[in-house]
Amino acid sequence: MVALRAQIRDEPMAADHKIDVSRRSLMAGAALAAMASAAPMAAQTAPKPTPKQMPGIHKHKVGSIDLLSITDGTVSFPRLDNFVSNVPADEVARTLEASFLPTDAITLTFTPVVLNTSGRLVVIDTGVGEAAFIQSNGVGGQFRNNLAAAGYSVADVDQVLITHFHADHIGGLVTADNKPAFPNAQIYVPAAEYAYWMDSSNMPKTPSEAMVANFKRARRIFGVLGSTVKKFDGGVELAPGVTSMSTHGHTPGHSSFIVTSGADKVIIQGDVTTHPALFIRHPNWHGATDMDPVQAEQTRRRLYDQAVAEKTVIYGFHFPFPALGHLAREDDGYRLVSVMWNSAP
Ligand SMILES: [Zn+2]
Repeated sequence: MVALRAQIRDEPMAADHKIDVSRRSLMAGAALAAMASAAPMAAQTAPKPTPKQMPGIHKHKVGSIDLLSITDGTVSFPRLDNFVSNVPADEVARTLEASFLPTDAITLTFTPVVLNTSGRLVVIDTGVGEAAFIQSNGVGGQFRNNLAAAGYSVADVDQVLITHFHADHIGGLVTADNKPAFPNAQIYVPAAEYAYWMDSSNMPKTPSEAMVANFKRARRIFGVLGSTVKKFDGGVELAPGVTSMSTHGHTPGHSSFIVTSGADKVIIQGDVTTHPALFIRHPNWHGATDMDPVQAEQTRRRLYDQAVAEKTVIYGFHFPFPALGHLAREDDGYRLVSVMWNSAP
């Protein structure tokens, strides 16, 4: 009771006090609340560095062989109506849209292969090279840097195998100042590819400036590398577990490679298909860069039927990173099922 009376007696004061306190509390609370709500806002709006993609490196085991997918970057360009030469442009657009891709531009990724096989380091295709890295501000030509991120230098490379002579595959054979980019490596190229691009009588027959540029580039690069370059035909084991296979059509000497170790096998297909969303789904579509599109289609169907029947993993230079997958049949074409990321292969 006494306590109660005291409370009652004190009530006005206490009430004032309480009001006072509660006002202050409210004000303080409001300030705290404002601060609390401002803190995350400040964190959200404060400038943070834009995260970079991690170096694109993926390891896949083929028996005892390490197969590394190492990105060289990408190129994007407006889609011309003849990007697929035997199909109306709007049909191509619908297929791109169905793959959730832009319809007005084409982006191609570049993924060279590095094999660590029986103590030898083997690179298959080089990416666009150092000059293109400088010219594109690093959008393409990243292979050399990403190889270093994987723990290897260009001086560690023992062999470089080439599928064909387009810029994204041979550009990295030389440095920006036209020196051999892999100083200790033996370079291997398809014999039929070398014969075509180095034959002076073929250049005047070419239909486009792009083709003339390809001729000039091949002559410049193989002029630097000289007579040390070795030429191969199909069916030759060029490195431990790595055998060449003629897959002509995209270019006159286009070649692929079979990598085997124990019961494991991977087909390295180069550009049997360039844009996977278009030409795997529609193997009868003819790419503008396929120099003999009829032969390219025959090669594509033959190789992909084999991959489907054998359930072989297939590696495509322009496939989505890590550029490895299985093929399944779908309607009159195929479907690419990418391999799953595995952090501990
Ligand atoms: Zn290519």
